[in-house]
Amino acid sequence: MGFDTSGLLPLSDALQGMLEQLACCCDSEQQPLPEGLGRVLASDIASPLAVPPFDNSAMDGYAVRLADLASGTPLIMAGKAFAGQPYQGEWPAGHCVRIMTGAPVPAGTDAVVMQEETQADGDRITFLAQPEPGQNIRRTGSDIGKGACVLQAGTRLTPREMPLLASLGIATVPVRRPLKVAIFSTGDELKPVGTPLAHGDIYDSNRYGVRAMLARLGCDCLDLGIIPDDPAQLRAAFIRADEEADVLITTGGVSVGEADFTKQLLDELGEIGFWKLAIKPGKPFAFGRLPRAWFFGLPGNPVSAMVTFDQLVQPALAKLAGQRFERPLQLQAIAAEPLKKSPGRLDFQRGIMSQGPNGLEVRSTGSQDSAVFSSLSQANCYIVLERERGRVAVGETVTVEPFGGLLL
Ligand code: AMP
Ligand code: MG
Repeated sequence: MGFDTSGLLPLSDALQGMLEQLACCCDSEQQPLPEGLGRVLASDIASPLAVPPFDNSAMDGYAVRLADLASGTPLIMAGKAFAGQPYQGEWPAGHCVRIMTGAPVPAGTDAVVMQEETQADGDRITFLAQPEPGQNIRRTGSDIGKGACVLQAGTRLTPREMPLLASLGIATVPVRRPLKVAIFSTGDELKPVGTPLAHGDIYDSNRYGVRAMLARLGCDCLDLGIIPDDPAQLRAAFIRADEEADVLITTGGVSVGEADFTKQLLDELGEIGFWKLAIKPGKPFAFGRLPRAWFFGLPGNPVSAMVTFDQLVQPALAKLAGQRFERPLQLQAIAAEPLKKSPGRLDFQRGIMSQGPNGLEVRSTGSQDSAVFSSLSQANCYIVLERERGRVAVGETVTVEPFGGLLL
């Protein structure tokens, strides 16, 4: 074949190797509930209440005792129960109580009959159906028992958890402080946006991608800008990042041509491994320890930087932040067009999946060159092609991984 891939490290081995070394490094603190959004729970949340806290009606209708209905004669309405205004009067035999959704059911209620199954003639209510015992009553604690664990430590709070916590009367939440991540881009050719380009220059785009992903993950970002390929400046940037952050993420300078340069520096400061990953895009990758901070060196090619962050750095940061990380969803789809692929690496091609007449189908975004931004910006999923797989013909089944919250 002429192309030796035997020394390439499988993605799963790289991930496992990193995760084994990492542990949560973020202390916990109490935060008011609204400020907890996007933070990671530091401990389990046990419900201080039973939910619902009292037996209540699931319908607008009438609270009845089954014994009163046995004769089949209409019942007289004794009074009304509203949400927040329980019925407190007498409830003589042969009577029912008008009741609204969420109102506490009066003591002795066997069932609530929904309004649509009754006929009212003034105060005389005729029941058209015989209710089952307990019908339309939400029992105390039937949703959540007092003391039950409602959310586990490691859960990242989203808008979905906010009303749940509020429903339990929880005003402050135990959360972890955000992970602090320093970033910089390396390369003499890089210029910041908003400045003119000389011949041979390009804009530094990676930093904007990495910053955006860190924001999605709820990390605090220390942006150290662009550092030229100069040992003294690189050294100073590594030392500053190590002093001020939990993690340093850089892009560029880890490929074969440049690794020696960075490697010398990092060997002196910490313990870093330079890996060749068996994935495409994103072969070169560095991981290790500075005196205090963890270090992730992403490839300079923009698409490679994004994909390696998503696949490798994201789960690592989650572990450092104390967050439970769930493996991304993978689905099967039909290739709607041929896909180029050579055996040797696990491909994360960028695809567009859509609902076809025969189920989920997927197309390529076109050129899969790791410098082509449109391959990522137009995509809504990865097409994950197994390491030993070759070209894919139309109609073959492939695995797709819809983009998760990090990239949406
Ligand atoms: P490197 O890994 O430093 O050898 O870079 C590989 C390729 O990615 C080169 O074409 C670089 O110009 C490009 N590159 C590196 N860093 C960035 C960046 N921050 N933004 C855009 N392109 C970059
Ligand atoms: Mg470079």
